[in-house]
Amino acid sequence: MSAQLPGISRRRFVASAGLAATAVCVVPHRVFGGEERLVVAARKSGETANVTVQALRGNVSALIGAGGNIAVLPGNDGKLIIDAGYLSARNKIAAALSSLSPDPIKHLVNTHWHFDHTDGNEWMHSAGATITAHENTRKHLSTSTRVEDWNFTFPPSPVGAIPTDVFSADKSLQLNGATIALKHYGPAHTDGDISIYFTEADVLHTGDTWWNGHYPFIDYSTGGSINGMIKAAEANLTMVTDKTIVVPGHGPVGGKTEMIEYRDILASIRDRVAALKEEGKSLNEIVAAKPTAAYDAKWGTGFVNGEFFTKLVYKGVG
Ligand SMILES: [Zn+2]
Repeated sequence: MSAQLPGISRRRFVASAGLAATAVCVVPHRVFGGEERLVVAARKSGETANVTVQALRGNVSALIGAGGNIAVLPGNDGKLIIDAGYLSARNKIAAALSSLSPDPIKHLVNTHWHFDHTDGNEWMHSAGATITAHENTRKHLSTSTRVEDWNFTFPPSPVGAIPTDVFSADKSLQLNGATIALKHYGPAHTDGDISIYFTEADVLHTGDTWWNGHYPFIDYSTGGSINGMIKAAEANLTMVTDKTIVVPGHGPVGGKTEMIEYRDILASIRDRVAALKEEGKSLNEIVAAKPTAAYDAKWGTGFVNGEFFTKLVYKGVG
């Protein structure tokens, strides 16, 4: 928890509710004496979260700051919401949703199972939402699921929080005059990540396959890997043009230019770590070699620092 540790500042963690979910994913073990506390602290951060509404295009808006980034499409069929944020931010999320339109909440899509994207599932379901997700998301929410790198075991979610409308490869929704394409990435950040594309508006939500401006967390406990993340980053680039507005799982709304940079950085670090591992270097030696050094000033100043990201990459190469 001390300020001299690299890549994390307690003050920043507390002050920046918008990045609190990121904190969960990235703070090395020793910082808080166990990631378990991070999950608890991240959930609590929703109480003081500053939720902002950002209009995107074609009636699609983003809600930033209440956990994973949320996207919303209001309309006569009821609101379609992508990801549910923290339960502790419920009041602020509800207020932000009400500010967009009086339409009831009818449809919720989860990008993946992580708590900063699904803790609000139960209240949104009780408000009227049918929950759609990949079948692996339902699987993880239905059972006790451990994330080793968070040192945390999540109990099964309440029945109302579990998606009832699931698919394996892709699915198309027609709601509020829009076509919404849902597509499984294959194993990437978890084994249940999906993209959500608002076709007419040309707005894409990538879930946690893209972290804009931060090294990403990778959940090896439920099927994630660095190579899967890079594959998803490539897939994201095939889905966008220079005009597409893209909502990442964490970080500010962006587009193709930032996604190319992210893909290149992931691939570059992966290659460096793989080469060092191939030479027979130990994890400690590879961390000491600082294979992320060229990028840390920009990408490692948030909550996944270079060291932790190096460890996540090391797990998935060689
Ligand atoms: Zn996640």
